[in-house]
Amino acid sequence: MPSPRKSSPKRAPRRDSASRTVKSGKITYPWTLHKSQGLAILQLSPFSKLPWLVHGFSTRTGGGSSLEGERVLNLGFMEWDTPENVNANRRKFQAALGAQDLTLLPLKQIHSALLRPFSDSPKEPCKGDASATNTPGLLLAIQTADCVPILLVDPQKRAVAAIHAGWRGTLSRITEKAVGRMYYEYGSKPANVLAAIGPSIGPCCYEVAADFVSKFTAQFADATDYFDEPRSGEEPNPLQWLNMMPPGHQPPAKGVHLDLRKANRSQLLAAGLRPQNIFVTDLCTGCRGDLFFSYRKEGPFSGRLMSVVAMRT
Ligand SMILES: [Zn+2]
Repeated sequence: MPSPRKSSPKRAPRRDSASRTVKSGKITYPWTLHKSQGLAILQLSPFSKLPWLVHGFSTRTGGGSSLEGERVLNLGFMEWDTPENVNANRRKFQAALGAQDLTLLPLKQIHSALLRPFSDSPKEPCKGDASATNTPGLLLAIQTADCVPILLVDPQKRAVAAIHAGWRGTLSRITEKAVGRMYYEYGSKPANVLAAIGPSIGPCCYEVAADFVSKFTAQFADATDYFDEPRSGEEPNPLQWLNMMPPGHQPPAKGVHLDLRKANRSQLLAAGLRPQNIFVTDLCTGCRGDLFFSYRKEGPFSGRLMSVVAMRT
């Protein structure tokens, strides 16, 4: 059978500027994309190897919600979507993970440093930005669209936690506190805890006001590492050529770029996790609009991603 399309013998020319952009968009080991039931779920191999564990970071692929003509897996109750769609998407997400029989425990997220330990299912979603459990069957869930989702697993004591870390939560040390709370609640030694820092907005796309530098340096000894060079706004913007927009089509950078992943990784290290037990994906929700939702890029008409972790019953 003749091929309907001629294959080109030429390789696509290497574009250095583009490859630097794409660097924050590739899925590389130990991260894998698990495809099931029309969905694509990001997973971490060291977690997948634990037979008693369920985990996953959702993507926008598949699902029954319609966002500007695209079918998406929106997992948060948004004004533009119906509760029926969201609930159906959540069931589909759980089924794709083989977690349909587990109890989904989302939080009412409020950008706090509040962690909820669960030993059974509450009647109503609790307010908070992190949850933890050592009870099998409870599927801890965090919703994000740019903020940093973090899953913690202690294979020794068999306890898990899920964290939502935006800039406010990061500034109030939610991640460091969550590790301490796992020790308090379950006896989890930080040196045994594994951490997965999931897809979030990268420093490439996360420009913040210049006063964020002093906000963070007042709290963290290494905070200057979380920012790129503070700029006055007079200098040419390096992003202008990185994303190949023609000159004049993008305003010059006024603020600084904040790396929330680095800030949260630093908190995990400060809490006593081993560097080799911390896994960070550099997938950027801003750069990879094909895979993820981004509030910064899409505004109120963006969906919500969900990051989940549980012990099987
Ligand atoms: Zn980006």
